[in-house]
Amino acid sequence: MKIREKSVPGYDRVLLGSDEAAGYQGIIAIHSTALGPAVGGTRYWSYKTEDDAMTDALRLARGMTYKNALAGLPFGGGKSIIMRNGKGADREQLFRAHGRMVNSLAGKYITAEDVGTSPADMEYILKETTYVGGLQGRSGDPSPHTARGVFRAMQAAAKHKWGSDDLAGKTVAIQGCGHVGYFLAAELTRVGAKLIVTDVDAAKVKHVVDNHRATAVMPEEIYSVPADIFAPCALGGVLNDQTISRLTATLVVGAANNQLLEPRHGDLIEQRAVLYAPDYAANAGGVINGCCREMLGWDVPKTLAKTDAIYDTLLTIFAMAERENIPTYQAADRLAEERLR
Ligand code: NAD
Repeated sequence: MKIREKSVPGYDRVLLGSDEAAGYQGIIAIHSTALGPAVGGTRYWSYKTEDDAMTDALRLARGMTYKNALAGLPFGGGKSIIMRNGKGADREQLFRAHGRMVNSLAGKYITAEDVGTSPADMEYILKETTYVGGLQGRSGDPSPHTARGVFRAMQAAAKHKWGSDDLAGKTVAIQGCGHVGYFLAAELTRVGAKLIVTDVDAAKVKHVVDNHRATAVMPEEIYSVPADIFAPCALGGVLNDQTISRLTATLVVGAANNQLLEPRHGDLIEQRAVLYAPDYAANAGGVINGCCREMLGWDVPKTLAKTDAIYDTLLTIFAMAERENIPTYQAADRLAEERLR
């Protein structure tokens, strides 16, 4: 295993590793350890160049610092990438090589699953280092916890905008009926909200419609259907020049990462008097569950209370945005930065 260190301004440590025998080429980016060891998943993905992978690793690691800080977790932010080279690799060798690189940081960085990786891959990493979470039979599927946090964020947005967090009778348009979308629909049905749902996968839509009395619409219609709340739970970049003008909802609260195509769309949405719950504050339930259960050894009730506190975090963000006359996405960044200081 060859490990090189790269100096990147504003980042704590950035490592590039390669292990020819294992077909491994990877990056670990630690953005900050100000609040504790850096936590963030391992992404197994194909990139055109090493520079592209580095850009992604740096962006994602910084995002984890902000997300963990806002969630009130005693962890910093980091992320790692294993470059998929298209040649087909022995998964065990690949992830064990990554485990050795993680171990070289002696606990400064703790990894877990991310796009392209599974609990089985984390078991391979565990053969080389204890600095890994997301293991089989431990904290389990993060999605119901993410959905719970999004639901609490929705209640906070309703409280701020309408003076009551009761969602009974409110219409929620859910984009994406996957893992989070399904559990979010369950939370909302429980409190008497009305659901309009969509997905590009008809079977996923049917599953939600059959179980939660939802009305299905075509994917393109979801922005303009009459709704009180729009919940993006599919892809990033869905709040953009084409979609914002079509929104009928007064609140936007969802699980998808990077919902704003560009920061300026956070300003645009504000100008239309729509309250946007910053995604990385609203979707932290999964990371809270993983960190608290696996890394801090908390029990279920204590962990649930922490996820439910997303409500208070969102209220703080909305109040700060109003007080300082800034868009909510900027208030979220400011609050995270205050906590980092
Ligand atoms: P998922 O893959 O299970 O579900 C996403 C769904 O969106 C799929 O059913 C897919 O068919 C659908 N979809 C894709 N393109 C669509 C489109 N154009 N219109 C409508 N539907 C479309 O993913 P998930 O785990 O439910 O996560 C949803 C989002 O939340 C993702 O952006 C993810 O990054 C983010 N997120 C998830 C978690 C978690 O705990 N799973 C945590 C934080 C953030």
